[in-house]
Amino acid sequence: MSARILVADDIEANRRVLQGKLESHFHVVLEAANGLDAIKVAENERPEIILLDVMMPGIDGYETCKRLKSNPDTSHIPVVMVTALSDSEDRVRGLEAGAEDFITKPVDDFQLNSRIEALRRYNSVAHELRLRQGRGASALEFEDQEQEDLKRSVRILVMDTHPRRSKRLVDMLRKAGHEVSSYLDAAGESALSNAGVDLILLPLSDQGFDPLKICTHFRMSEMTRPISIIVACEPHETHIAARALAYGASDVIQMPIEPQELLARVRTQTRRTRYIEIMRKRVDRGLELSVIDQLTGLYNRRYMMNQLHQLMKRALIGGKPLSVIALDIDHFKHVNDTYGHAAGDAVLQEIAERLQANVRPVDMVCRPGGEEFVAILPDTEGDRAAAAAERVRRAVAGAVFTLPNGEAIDVTLSAGVAILAGMDDTPSALLSRGDKALYLAKNQGRNRVCSVAA
Ligand code: GH3
Ligand code: MG
Ligand code: MG
Repeated sequence: MSARILVADDIEANRRVLQGKLESHFHVVLEAANGLDAIKVAENERPEIILLDVMMPGIDGYETCKRLKSNPDTSHIPVVMVTALSDSEDRVRGLEAGAEDFITKPVDDFQLNSRIEALRRYNSVAHELRLRQGRGASALEFEDQEQEDLKRSVRILVMDTHPRRSKRLVDMLRKAGHEVSSYLDAAGESALSNAGVDLILLPLSDQGFDPLKICTHFRMSEMTRPISIIVACEPHETHIAARALAYGASDVIQMPIEPQELLARVRTQTRRTRYIEIMRKRVDRGLELSVIDQLTGLYNRRYMMNQLHQLMKRALIGGKPLSVIALDIDHFKHVNDTYGHAAGDAVLQEIAERLQANVRPVDMVCRPGGEEFVAILPDTEGDRAAAAAERVRRAVAGAVFTLPNGEAIDVTLSAGVAILAGMDDTPSALLSRGDKALYLAKNQGRNRVCSVAA
């Protein structure tokens, strides 16, 4: 799946190198040549991840990061600082400025991509929670128990068979107030079997076991999967660290370990683990896990059905109209077959954006599945809904879609409009009338809007 990534670096050659690496994995690259520019692009374009060079003229990377993190519109976007190799001072300052991660120059392709995938996993969970909170429904906010869970002290297992190194790490973490157990004593073993830990610190060298196997092992079981694993590597072991990341480690720290850097990494990882834990508990309690579609950021089918029901009820009580538009991309299979699935995904994302940009903020835009979209328009008569649908149709057909490989293609969609009928109407009946209108549009030659009478 491709991500939109902002690369901020004052040196053009550096931007080109990162762009090449990222685009070869179908990511979409945005650029900024200095800190202020990066902030502007982040605000306007909302990238999913920001790669931020430390050394820039004007405001440097740290200051840029601080400003991004103190702006509510951009604070949620993970920032990766791009620093010079082996400069642990840089890393600590970056993490203290609020950066989620860092990579060192020269940027290693494999590590870059492992990091981006890890951050996207973190993103999807955090995004979900933010949306729920943003919608303001009470069930979506953190409950008291969840607040407690977020604040609970961190339980860390130091998994190291090297006695002196193990003791050093245990002491370092205890001093910071964490609950630490060591694999070397019985407490460690039992902590492990109960899965009563939040995080494992795992040095890669001189171990009495294969640390990569440990990573795989923890990712295999449902019980231990949410546990974060931070692997510690010597500077010459980055290739093993990259493999550890691929096998499921959450983060890497380089030896010799800077206490501040370790604590900052523990903090970031814990936040992620706790979010996942909260989500899991909500699922256990039968609360819906997901309201959004991860590819497009639009509402998913479950949430759409739920909200449509509420909106219909509200419209009927208030004596207001309500319309739905069902949309389906024309010959989308052809896009996938010709340009590949990733290109298809990019088209879906672009459609979602054009769709959202051509309806009102109160309208609910959803992606119930595949290449089908639905817009729910409260307080809207059929003719105005048809006009909105026509506006969307034109916004899609009127400008080419640029694929991740740079190729530009034409895309069209068809749309069907249906209106709320009366007290006996149901969400599925309303949507199926929308579908009926949509099939009419398909049958009449596609790239058009049709309506059906209620
Ligand atoms: P029509 O004009 O009749 O709608 O033709 P169509 O090709 O768009 O319709 P069809 O239903 O035959 O094919 C839909 C295609 O959408 C098939 C499937 O591979 C693709 N698709 C569904 N979901 C996704 C997705 O998440 N990503 C991508 N890339 N493709 C998807
Ligand atoms: Mg289609
Ligand atoms: Mg279809």
